Amino acid sequence: MTTTLSTAASPTIALSATPFALAGWENELVEAVVELARTFAMTAAHYDDRAEIAVGNLVSLHDAGLSEAMLPQEVGGRGLSYQAFGEIVRVICEADPATGTIFTMHSGAAVSLALLTKDTLGSFYADEVLAGKRFSNALSEPTSGNRFLNPQQAAVPVEGGWALEGAKRFVSGSEIADYLLVNALVDGEPVFFGVPTADDSISIIPIWDTLGLRATRSQLLSFDNTVLRVEQRGRTPRLTDFAVIPAGLPMISLGVADAALAALITHARGRIILGKALSHQQWLQFEVAEVQSRLEAVRAFVRQTLWQADHHEPSFFSNLSRAKYLANKVAVEVAQLAVRAGGASGFLKTSPIQRHLRDAEAGQLMAYSTEVLAGEIGRDVFGIAPGEVD
Ligand SMILES: Cc1cc2nc3c(=O)[nH]c(=O)nc-3n(C[C@H](O)[C@H](O)[C@H](O)COP(=O)(O)OP(=O)(O)OC[C@H]3O[C@@H](n4cnc5c(N)ncnc54)[C@H](O)[C@@H]3O)c2cc1C
Repeated sequence: MTTTLSTAASPTIALSATPFALAGWENELVEAVVELARTFAMTAAHYDDRAEIAVGNLVSLHDAGLSEAMLPQEVGGRGLSYQAFGEIVRVICEADPATGTIFTMHSGAAVSLALLTKDTLGSFYADEVLAGKRFSNALSEPTSGNRFLNPQQAAVPVEGGWALEGAKRFVSGSEIADYLLVNALVDGEPVFFGVPTADDSISIIPIWDTLGLRATRSQLLSFDNTVLRVEQRGRTPRLTDFAVIPAGLPMISLGVADAALAALITHARGRIILGKALSHQQWLQFEVAEVQSRLEAVRAFVRQTLWQADHHEPSFFSNLSRAKYLANKVAVEVAQLAVRAGGASGFLKTSPIQRHLRDAEAGQLMAYSTEVLAGEIGRDVFGIAPGEVD
């Protein structure tokens, strides 16, 4: 199934749905998202320029039934498959990667909170998700760097729970969030909590004025002795939990890569140099052959990994690292070629090409970064056990 979009702001978006079989209702949802993505593509540059969250996009995704779809069945949702979730993220990101990134982070925090507190507040969180409330991940710390699952900040015991004094940074969509997924050390162990943002001890420090993914508004949050309550505490994550964010991150980059390739093709076809279209220059044909073939190979690998996840194949988790590594890198390669082909006109703010390059670079920075993943994959190849690492 192939759907090709054409909008004024984003000339050609070639959306090809996953080759693997999705359930009928999942296909309908993907098609509904394709329709929404047409409108997202028309405003992506506007929101990027203003570094403003496209709240309306997020509301329309909720209204299209995505909140219920992405919640696992065990917590009252429809239980979207990995493959369908990934395809939906890619489609959104091809049109507007900031919207797709906030959607991924929101889905990850919401699903985690509903699952990790299933025996306590889980049904409350599930109801809040279905009601359209918004969730963010407040995990990265100034001192933990990329290792956001290894918090360095300890929460100290107080009446009713533990108090957290410190900061969490780059929290996508935090300004519109109702709840945060927060982690901290409790008795030396990393523990997850769900924390409402309506808490005077939490404040936003507006640092977010970035090069790429500007409309995610991933701000720094300060926690001034915020009480993480006993009843807000979640269980330890399990490998069988729906791994929303690891599945979404490679698809964010694939969406950016697809948008960059579409912009490159449109420019090369339309730019006439000495009477001939740029697309007729052999150097560009050779180079586009290289990046487009690589992009399709990465897409096949990412889709295979999500298929493995849906079929509970143990290799899926380490392959998700490879999927992010490959997708992050190919997005930058495609966008860099688009910049070369675009020449100075592709460098203008009015061209989508410069935005695709900035967004592609951001994909590599989001944890785990390509450097951290390279180390992980390399150690895996050599059979070096995690305990042997410095
Ligand atoms: C657009 C965007 C959205 C984000 N959204 C969220 C969010 O919603 N919630 C959230 O909690 N976080 C979020 N983050 C944070 C992100 O996931 C990273 O955790 C954070 O960016 C890491 O900190 P840093 O960028 O300062 O990099 P650093 O960790 O300081 O990295 C600097 C350099 O050191 C390398 N490096 C770092 N650690 C290691 C290591 N252990 N081994 C080898 N090399 C290493 C890195 O690869 C990089 O090259 C977001 C980041 C971005 C860019």
